[in-house]
Amino acid sequence: MDPWKNVKDLTYAQRRELQNKKLHQFINHYVYPFSPHYRKIFDQNNINPQDIRTVEDLSKIPLSSKLDFVEQEEQKGETFKNFVLQPDKEKIRRYWPKSKLLRLAGSSLLHGSKYTEEKISREFRPVFMTFTTGTTNKPVPFLYSNHDMRNLHIFGARMLTLFDIQTSEKLVNMFPYAPHLAFWQVVCGGFESCALTLSTGGGKTMGTEGNIAAILKMQPSILLGVPSYVYHVLRAAKEKGCKMDSIKKVVLGASRITPAFKAKLAELLKSMGANNVSVFGTYGFTEARCAWAECPTAIDVSSGYHLYADKEIFEVVDPKTGEVKGEGEDGELVYTSLDSRASTVIRYRTGDFVKGGITHEPCPHCGRHVTRISSDITRLSDIKDLQLTKIKGALVNLNHFTAILSDVEMIDDWQIEIRKKNNDPFEMDELVVYVCVRDTDAQDQLEEEIKREMLLATELAPNAIYFVSREEIVKRLELETANKDKRIIDSRPKN
Ligand SMILES: [Zn+2]
Repeated sequence: MDPWKNVKDLTYAQRRELQNKKLHQFINHYVYPFSPHYRKIFDQNNINPQDIRTVEDLSKIPLSSKLDFVEQEEQKGETFKNFVLQPDKEKIRRYWPKSKLLRLAGSSLLHGSKYTEEKISREFRPVFMTFTTGTTNKPVPFLYSNHDMRNLHIFGARMLTLFDIQTSEKLVNMFPYAPHLAFWQVVCGGFESCALTLSTGGGKTMGTEGNIAAILKMQPSILLGVPSYVYHVLRAAKEKGCKMDSIKKVVLGASRITPAFKAKLAELLKSMGANNVSVFGTYGFTEARCAWAECPTAIDVSSGYHLYADKEIFEVVDPKTGEVKGEGEDGELVYTSLDSRASTVIRYRTGDFVKGGITHEPCPHCGRHVTRISSDITRLSDIKDLQLTKIKGALVNLNHFTAILSDVEMIDDWQIEIRKKNNDPFEMDELVVYVCVRDTDAQDQLEEEIKREMLLATELAPNAIYFVSREEIVKRLELETANKDKRIIDSRPKN
């Protein structure tokens, strides 16, 4: 059964009609009655939930963001509970439409009121959680009910269908085993699609040797994981002289992926006997409890991420004014759920800046009639975000370094360290780059290239570039031991 069947053939007008209807119902029957946070927002701003009838009406609701979760930390860190839908009998009676109540009454007559209560409880009661992986803020829990778990199965299945994965194909899931979205969406997608999946848990759980051994034994055609770790495992396998010719597709998540990185990965796999490998990017975040993906294209082309019209609405807004942008325009991605229970966010600022915005045109690659977002997404230069920092007195967006260093073909892996000269807190800032190269003969030329490119992009040249061994860079990045690579480290003493 095609998990896309209800959404892939709708015209743009039909999709909008579906979203208008779902939005009105979701706000009036679920969000306003059951969400302590949003009820307060509506009341404080004198918004009548009945007035939210179309996607355009969303602009009447103020934007929310991560700050809503972290700012009120004096409440013993329990703010996240205000975002969990909390129905009770009285609220259900008051806010649910007659037709829905009649069905409940019918079910109680037939099976008893206990049965009906249990059914509602199963829909709303949290049974699972994941956490945000913020580098700066405390992790925030996001809860799932059984209804949300069902959706996670659907999202996973839609993703695997998009990659054109056949049931006869085998998957190795190397996302870190942790309360994070990526690992679980792949697990659930495998269940729903009936695809045989080995979830290794990544480097921390099975070690790199264990992951390589699992791939060799399982001979999967699809490999999924975090870009830096997938690259690391394949690189290590190559060093051992392993063949990886079973692999046809690589799916990467939890990080921005450039076309040059995709090409680098495909090239590496080619050198191990895997020809014409497709590399897919995905986009997701904890708060949506969902990830979206690209469909098959040539390695240097991105289809954009395919959205689920029946499950969410994305808007693109001006990050400064909050003004909603038109189709194809750049701006910050804002997410509104249409079908969630437990932790629910609406008009949620992702902090992600998308170049090329949203398109409603049918996908020219797979032909599905779905709205897509451009895959050119970067973290917004938010002061609260670690990605923006002052080095030598100048504000620098560290994303620029990532774009440069990951794209240079000669560079195998890299790390940036911001430190104080002589480790003296009163001294100057220093910017140091550690680089592991594929061919040591080209070091001098590469050193010049890195300096030039970094200066061009950030007006900042590194103080030193150290060429290090594969072994050392793996250790520095903690590729084998951490869930997230230590790509950019700030070792300056905190005040
Ligand atoms: Zn497509």
